[in-house]
Order: sequence, then structure tokens, then C-alpha cells
Amino acid sequence: MTPTEGTQRRTGEPPKKKGEGLFWLIDPVLKLGEGEFVYTEGCLSIPDEYEEVTRFGHIVVEFTGRDGKRRQLEATNTLLSVCVQHEMDHLQGKLFVDHLSALKRELIRRRLKKHKAQREAERKGEATAL
Ligand SMILES: [Zn+2]
Repeated sequence: MTPTEGTQRRTGEPPKKKGEGLFWLIDPVLKLGEGEFVYTEGCLSIPDEYEEVTRFGHIVVEFTGRDGKRRQLEATNTLLSVCVQHEMDHLQGKLFVDHLSALKRELIRRRLKKHKAQREAERKGEATAL
């Protein structure tokens, strides 16, 4: 049991349904970014790669909610402040590796290339076995 589930049971709230707690940030704009926060990030776009990324610690983001109203979100040194910046990067075609040194990026690129070659070799092996 997670602490969250325990809290929900104690307060008599129904357990959260799948997808609940998701929220939408439409047209997000970073209004304020200050300080630094380091977090080990990964991304579905780059499987099995995790690196420390330095981002703003304190952020204020303006966005449109699903109700069409313009709102603000503030987060400081949390997973939320990291996630929002990570996802906003995606909107501009950036990945977390773009925050790393050229050397680290190159090492990751080589590992991905090697994994891709291994997968292709495995596929070819399976094809000839058929
Ligand atoms: Zn991502």
C-alpha cells in the first residue's frame, strides 16, 4: 500500500481511478524560472537512458485549463516542477539530453546506435530461423 492509499482510506475517500490526477496544460508559457534543481530524468523517447539534468528550481507557468480558463501553476524543487519543464521541452522538440554536455549526448547516441544494431541483428536471426 502506498501512503496515498492509506490516507484515502483513513479519510474515507474512494481510491483513485486510473487516469485520475492527470491534468492538462494547454499553451503553457513559462512566466518565471529561477534557481536550480537537479533531478535524474528519463524519457520514453530514449529508452533505458537516465541522466541528471539541471533545470529551474522554482517555476511559474501560465496555461489554459480544459475549461478554457487561463490559470497559473507554481512549483518549487519537486517532481512536478521537473515534469512540467520536461514536457514543455517536448512541445519545442527538445529532449532531456539536449540539456547534457556534448560528450554525454554522444555517449548516449552511441549506446542507442549499438542497441539498434543489436535489435536488427536479433530480428534478422529470427527471420532466417523461420
Ligand atoms: Zn519525455
